Amino acid sequence: MTKIIDGKLISAKLKEEVKIEVENLREKGISVCLAVVMVGDDTASKVYVRNKKRVCEAVGIVSKEFILNANISQQELIDLIDLLNKDRKVNGILVQLPLPKHLNEKDIISSIVPSKDVDAFHPINVGKIMLGEYDFLPCTPAGIIDLIYETGISIEGKNCVIIGRSNIVGKPMSMLLLQKNGTVTICHSKTQNLKEITSKADILVAAVGCPNFIKDDMIKPGAVVIDVGINRLKDGSLCGDVDFEGAKNVAGYITPVPGGVGPMTIATLMKNTLLAAKLQNHN
Ligand code: NAD
Repeated sequence: MTKIIDGKLISAKLKEEVKIEVENLREKGISVCLAVVMVGDDTASKVYVRNKKRVCEAVGIVSKEFILNANISQQELIDLIDLLNKDRKVNGILVQLPLPKHLNEKDIISSIVPSKDVDAFHPINVGKIMLGEYDFLPCTPAGIIDLIYETGISIEGKNCVIIGRSNIVGKPMSMLLLQKNGTVTICHSKTQNLKEITSKADILVAAVGCPNFIKDDMIKPGAVVIDVGINRLKDGSLCGDVDFEGAKNVAGYITPVPGGVGPMTIATLMKNTLLAAKLQNHN
């Protein structure tokens, strides 16, 4: 019988731990603050930013939002980030992606001081992850490691297959699984014989962005299946990259969408913001 990995429950535990530590810091006179910068009014981004604010409030983290006009220039945005970099009351800075086409995402992310880069997208933080000497881990992959941990299944020696090679999910995910001694394969749009590879995975992470892409016959019986995809269907409902109804008859463990990886991503962002505040205050 397939077990559902309850991201809501597991993230609630993590948020509770963060909340207690945030409160402890407050008693020492330190308040924790996250600045979220959003450019334009992309519908999905607005939902993510709203959720982040709500969770900040729930754990006692001060949330500062900067909703900027879609036409803002690269320099104006970098100037704002620079102010936030220097603001000692701001511990974490997050720039909501994607940015409008006229802005250079790489340069914008690189303008965030690494010690406040709670998304861990800055090249210095990415490099540190490669070396295994990091402060911050990227929120989605780190949340996934926590979800796998909760199954009680060890990653060590397991065949881990990731579908998707994005900088925010697939690539860092491969590093974290490797650091846990998994044997890692990354698949992508040019991969041949995908089914042959996925059906050997003990741990399968799907980050494709394609509704119901992973069918039951692509899954090894008993595998841990992590569905990162968030796809909005025509009727307005959300679905993942895994065909949940089919997969739940084959997988050993599976994350639902919604209620799986998504809540862990936000909870890990809170954990990273707390960590940033602790490091900046030598606590
Ligand atoms: P992306 O859109 O940048 O890239 C998609 C990846 O899928 C690419 O690497 C591509 O090579 C691969 N791909 C495309 N077609 C393929 C095919 N036919 N076979 C094999 N691989 C194929 O990816 P992303 O930004 O990592 O996002 C992936 C999904 O995860 C999206 O639905 C996104 O919304 C979601 N997401 C969710 C969270 C969360 O917190 N739950 C966080 C980030 C992204």
